[in-house]
Amino acid sequence: MFDNLQDKLDRAFKVLKGQGSITEINVAETMKEIRKALLDADVNYKTAKTFTDEVRQKALGMNVLTAVSPGQLLTKVMNDELTELMGGSVTELETKANPTIILIAGLNGAGKTTFSGKLANFLKSKGKKPLLVAGDVYRPAAIDQLEVLGGQIGTPVYANRESNDPVGIALEGIAEGKKNGNNVIIIDTAGRLAIDESLMTEISEVKARTQPHEILFVVDAMTGQDAVNTAKAFNDRLDFTGVVLTKLDGDTRGGAALSIKSVVNKPIKFIGTGEKMEALDVFYPDRMASRILG
Ligand code: GDP
Repeated sequence: MFDNLQDKLDRAFKVLKGQGSITEINVAETMKEIRKALLDADVNYKTAKTFTDEVRQKALGMNVLTAVSPGQLLTKVMNDELTELMGGSVTELETKANPTIILIAGLNGAGKTTFSGKLANFLKSKGKKPLLVAGDVYRPAAIDQLEVLGGQIGTPVYANRESNDPVGIALEGIAEGKKNGNNVIIIDTAGRLAIDESLMTEISEVKARTQPHEILFVVDAMTGQDAVNTAKAFNDRLDFTGVVLTKLDGDTRGGAALSIKSVVNKPIKFIGTGEKMEALDVFYPDRMASRILG
């Protein structure tokens, strides 16, 4: 994960560590290298600039120039700032309500259905009794896919193949879950290939009628700045409660993980790290920062 970014940051620090004495110019040069590394990782320009300006200011404020090990001090400042950039501390999923209703949104192929299964599996391991609701009315294969996943993880799936009304299905699913004592109801929804008005209207309606406690926006991390733009468009309409970044096991450059919080101001709650049902992690900004810095 983020190998390329790691390498580049490493190289940026080496420049500073190689200096006999540290000057403000060395620090500025290191920041320039760091900014370049971030831009290469597809972090958006404004985020990268604000970030390096802040790191520089903090480092100088902490007297990095006279520190015994300036490289180490700068790494610490970077670590703190990266953690902050990705949201500071972990944001837990809200699951107190009974039943807790969780709406899953995103574009086609982002990994919504897979994540719905993974989330049910995760909540089951925490002692919850989830129900999955197959709300993608346009792709019959999506219903099959969710049923297969439900079977794998031993979680019931509510589907209605006769209906093409996403709001109706969501409400039926909630009623079914209440009847059967499910305390978490996860509603998978239809996506589109790109953002369009009908998708936004439809999902807004499902939101209005189901009053979910959590709306998780699922996005493919491999799509970099596109992921951030899509997140912004969905958030403007849906005001979601958290982001799920999928496919972080692939050749992701890292831009989405680093920029999404500062652009959309919503926390990343989970990351997907593979196709298997177990390949899900709660997102810890501090752990991710340490990982990026190697
Ligand atoms: P949906 O259209 O949003 O419901 O997307 P799907 O859940 O069908 O996922 C699309 C493809 O991405 C499938 O082939 C999944 O197996 C794959 N996928 C989903 N999440 C991950 C992940 O975290 N890592 C990897 N490598 N593949 C994933």
